[in-house]
Amino acid sequence: MSDFYATLGVARDATDADIKKAYRKLAMEYHPDRNQAPDAEARFKQIVEAYEVLKDPDKRARYDRYGEAGLGGAAGQAGYGGFHHVDLAEALNIFMRDFGGFESLFGQQARAEQRRGQDIRVNVKITLDEVALGAKRTIKLKTLERCEKCEGTGAKKGTRPTPCGTCSGTGEIRRAARSMFGQFVQVSPCPSCQGEGVVIQSPCPECRGDGRVKAEKTVSVEIPSGVSENNYLTLRAQGAAGPRNSAPGDLLVMIEVKDDERFERDGDNLVMDLPLSFSQAALGLVLSVPTPYGEEPLTVPPGTQAGTILKVKGKGLPRLGQATRGDLLIRAHVWTPETLSEEQVRLFRELARHEGEPPRKGSGFWTRIKEALGA
Ligand SMILES: [Zn+2]
Ligand SMILES: [Zn+2]
Repeated sequence: MSDFYATLGVARDATDADIKKAYRKLAMEYHPDRNQAPDAEARFKQIVEAYEVLKDPDKRARYDRYGEAGLGGAAGQAGYGGFHHVDLAEALNIFMRDFGGFESLFGQQARAEQRRGQDIRVNVKITLDEVALGAKRTIKLKTLERCEKCEGTGAKKGTRPTPCGTCSGTGEIRRAARSMFGQFVQVSPCPSCQGEGVVIQSPCPECRGDGRVKAEKTVSVEIPSGVSENNYLTLRAQGAAGPRNSAPGDLLVMIEVKDDERFERDGDNLVMDLPLSFSQAALGLVLSVPTPYGEEPLTVPPGTQAGTILKVKGKGLPRLGQATRGDLLIRAHVWTPETLSEEQVRLFRELARHEGEPPRKGSGFWTRIKEALGA
């Protein structure tokens, strides 16, 4: 059981303004982007949760009377006995919503993130066999890389960026402001250095002060087996370099899967059509069928009906990140010859004298046909 008042360090009769003030101070102190202490994340979540309850007069009244038990779902609602504990992502979202974003709070750090290099997206087309087995690709990229002439600083060789005089190198301008909650310090990026804290007196001629130059690079990418169309891989820090030694962007590899003339994909299963002649369907046979892992023997039993699904276990696609595979499903079709030689006509007539009537109504035949058609 947590005590929300203790979490925010306020008295039980604290005003809304006191609660808000305590929340703001503590949330900023324990925000996991600023506080590296091992318990900061847990504290931060507790602080957000406590504020979510105490800022709402109705929830606060129920909490005062019944504790956390008063905060469950509606009475009698199954499965929601307790209080909803937020996870970190939710807590961060709530915090952003309450305070309208990082920029005003974290100034320089948030701007450094904005200065990060761009993400680069590339499309990679792979075959179904490569989905089954995994693939490697070497990708050529047009990108921006660190300027070696100035070691990414943007300052001409032999010179250095100098601390900005306007903000004394902090990148921030602080101003006292008043609001209905009292006096607070408003922080905004320094206009002289765009928040970087340094200015470049003589820019590097190679990169014109950006710290980056155009470049081509090759990246090798390993595509795991089991991927699907529109999956993507993120290669951290393989995107464009950031300006003036700021963090690089990521490389996003978007997967496209080419159509395959042998198989259709159904999740982890592969589906294949297999035409059989009358005699093959009637007598059965053993043949070999293609799979992404090579040919496999398949037994077609005597008396196979059109629409029957035969299965080759474990020869479908791997499940992403797992050792198991789907199956190869083979749909039997009975193929009717469109032209017949005189000899064939003679043999079919001979056959017709011996074959029985196909079973119809009442024999379950139509049910089986419907099942086969998936109706
Ligand atoms: Zn400045
Ligand atoms: Zn340079």
